[in-house]
Amino acid sequence: MNDADLRARAAKVVPGGMYGHLNAALFAPGFPQFFERGEGCRQWDVNGREYIDFMCSWGPVVLGHRHPRVEEAAARQAALGDCLNGPGAIMVELAELLVDLVPSADWAMFSKNGTDATTQALMVARAATGRNKVLMAHGAYHGADPWCTPSPAGTTPNERADLVEFAYNSLESLEAAAATVEGDVAAIIVTPFKHDSFEDQELVEPAFARGARALADRIGAALVIDDVRAGFRIDLRGSWEPYGVRPDLTAWSKAMANGYPIAAVTGTDALRGPAQTLYSTGSFWFSAVAMAAAKATIETLRDTDGIAAMERAGAQLREGLHTQAKAHGFVVNQTGPVTIPWLSFDGDADLSVAMHWSDACLRHGVYLHPWHNWFMSAAHTEEDVAKALEGTDLAFAETRAHFG
Ligand code: PMP
Repeated sequence: MNDADLRARAAKVVPGGMYGHLNAALFAPGFPQFFERGEGCRQWDVNGREYIDFMCSWGPVVLGHRHPRVEEAAARQAALGDCLNGPGAIMVELAELLVDLVPSADWAMFSKNGTDATTQALMVARAATGRNKVLMAHGAYHGADPWCTPSPAGTTPNERADLVEFAYNSLESLEAAAATVEGDVAAIIVTPFKHDSFEDQELVEPAFARGARALADRIGAALVIDDVRAGFRIDLRGSWEPYGVRPDLTAWSKAMANGYPIAAVTGTDALRGPAQTLYSTGSFWFSAVAMAAAKATIETLRDTDGIAAMERAGAQLREGLHTQAKAHGFVVNQTGPVTIPWLSFDGDADLSVAMHWSDACLRHGVYLHPWHNWFMSAAHTEEDVAKALEGTDLAFAETRAHFG
């Protein structure tokens, strides 16, 4: 069954043939919708085309597809049972691992998706403070529930009524947002760096991170770091640990279990009591296989310094793309951490150059994205990146030929 046939069948039984942000119609024309398999840093679509994968399933795959240590841990647990009448010992072991690794974590709660974790973190903050309002950066993505979805379809204005926006990296704007709802701020929720789609990424200003911490302390609100996208690719201790800024609560998911479905909230002792008061549960939240995969993933990242491997591969990619873009006469912006890279073309407001280039990359066996940041994995070797750069070079040449 090929991609076109599957699209035709899906159009009859799935809304829009595919819904949400993985709808390939939103990318460049050549992007496949359906995939067959993945191995290491490679994926194959249902037409049998092979790609060096720089999206890593939009973040979850951090050690490479089908990593043996993770697959073995998951299979061992699956042989015992996955979804039982309660969690297994693995839940305690995983919580212990997070508490051991993450300085701001005295406890952990588990769920399935990043949205579960961001929502749960804000519920803990509200339960702790008895307050309503949440300060969040304008344009930031914290998930797909009614309170945070970027599209208003199917939601009511009430569901967003407790959000007050500030401009990322502007302490002045954050302070002003807090002042408008003085006395009622339950939480400040913030991503470790600015990674809004369609825009160049922006690293956090250390003074902003420290200022957010100080403000939260001053007004008695919880500082929540949404580490769903960046977690486990910047610093295993938490993405603001290098700046010495520790949150009260952290939302984790994506890269936590190398593709198995799991999310977590970690928090400080002061919030343990309020966390315990929530009605917080889900039919599949305590399934043991994903927890076993998470433990194996995090231990492997720790034991093999997986982040350093991603940094090496990411730096090689960035440097190669820089040289190629210049040689082909393109001015490009490469932004964000090298482990979560992105490239945009200067002056390409309508994305036509990015669409053309990413489409050409695909044809040359490189899967990356025209308007969303990419993800490195620890499985990208020097050889893989060098091979990918051969494809991107051809893609730059074709894009130059097309646009003249
Ligand atoms: N927060 C951030 C920063 C994210 O990047 C995402 C997912 N892209 C989410 C929350 C929501 O995660 P999920 O899609 O797993 O619900």
